[in-house]
Amino acid sequence: SLSIGIVGLPNVGKSTLFTALTNKGGLAANYPFATIEPNVGIVPVPDARLDALAAIDHPAKIVPATVEFVDIAGLVEGASKGEGLGNQFLANIRETDAICEVVRFFSDPDVVHVNGKVNPTSDVETIKTELILADIGTLDKAIPRLEKEAKRDKAGAKKLEVAKKVLEGLNEGHRARTLGLDEDEQAAIYDLHLLTMKPILYIANVDEDALDVDLAEIDGCAPVPISAKVEADLAELDPEEAKEYLEAMGLSESGLARLVREAYKLLGLQSYFTSGETETRAWTIPIGAKAPQAAGVIHSDFERGFIKAETASFTDYVDLGGEVGCRNAGKLRQEGKEYVVQDGDVMHFKFNV
Ligand code: GDP
Repeated sequence: SLSIGIVGLPNVGKSTLFTALTNKGGLAANYPFATIEPNVGIVPVPDARLDALAAIDHPAKIVPATVEFVDIAGLVEGASKGEGLGNQFLANIRETDAICEVVRFFSDPDVVHVNGKVNPTSDVETIKTELILADIGTLDKAIPRLEKEAKRDKAGAKKLEVAKKVLEGLNEGHRARTLGLDEDEQAAIYDLHLLTMKPILYIANVDEDALDVDLAEIDGCAPVPISAKVEADLAELDPEEAKEYLEAMGLSESGLARLVREAYKLLGLQSYFTSGETETRAWTIPIGAKAPQAAGVIHSDFERGFIKAETASFTDYVDLGGEVGCRNAGKLRQEGKEYVVQDGDVMHFKFNV
């Protein structure tokens, strides 16, 4: 499953947020989820469409899409030089698909700030610098090897060219991701797994009474405001109480629900559904995936033997009362190999075994 690393300076609320996340956090009490390791949690992606489909098909179970969160402790100034958990920390980030950076905005004087005062801009800069320095280290090590590869073939020459271009950008203080690399360039340096190529989502851990304050962009991205403290409290409540608590605060959903959805979006993901009496289930695919690739998420045999996909839009499926209703109304499409799956499609695959 796709994984998101939670990073941030010490004492910004990472563990509080992670615990709330893996404690259901008012996300959906009846969904299965799991904590695999102390610092790894599988979190369901809240999706009200599952309930709408289940109301039609009365399945034995509902299975939501999931995202994996990893609590990555140990980022301090100097990590790229081995300070704190240094290299271990960087290796852990390297394995994730995206980064979720918690930034301290809350003011509580009882919680010590590593640099003595709350300063989101400077905290973000500190982490950005460490990640950039780590990538510079990676490139410095790789370039001599790429110089040899460049003499052998064109692909090697391309790799070297892009690596040098990225190194220059990093040295000027830019993330690799913001250098505007085209697809070929990105592919050329994919093997290097640069930390600053990963998509990043900023979480502003704000005071409970500042949840509706408009925050300035951080490094070109709008941060998601959350109160880790509120989320921790919510995670302790049963769903009814959690709902009342949210309403009392004038919120329509928990911050975690929004965080998980934003993360899903950040990764360029969407869901399609399968639904019947056994289960109603959301499956995760990249935006732009074609029908066979979508089938392959269920089972590789489905992709190999793909024949067609009986497909209804989510709206038709719900309005027309399910698969039979869609068929009768001529709204059950027979889609082939080239069909680009749309978010919310309800699909039924036909395949050869
Ligand atoms: P980490 O080092 O980033 O994992 O930070 P923790 O989650 O361990 O939090 C550090 C301290 O800050 C703990 O005492 C938390 O209770 C406190 N804390 C975390 N989030 C909030 C928050 O939103 N508001 C306040 N007032 N305290 C918080």
